[in-house]
Amino acid sequence: MKVVVNQNNCIGCGACESICPEVFQINDEGLSSVIAKEEDFTNHEEEIRDAVDSCPTSAITEEAEEVKEEE
Ligand code: SF4
Repeated sequence: MKVVVNQNNCIGCGACESICPEVFQINDEGLSSVIAKEEDFTNHEEEIRDAVDSCPTSAITEEAEEVKEEE
């Protein structure tokens, strides 16, 4: 699972951060950033779904696991 915030859509309302501060944090520009690592996504899946549902601008996208090449 992977979570992305589209900062072009984010209005910085803070809802995602209050639902799941382990994953979302309002950055210096007042927009939400994803601060979590991949294992945190799995641990907080439920809150992330809540945040996706609660985002007023649908800026948060939840994506299925991608095949990732890491070296
Ligand atoms: S809930 Fe949506 S609009 Fe509000 S801060 Fe989070 S990403 Fe931005």
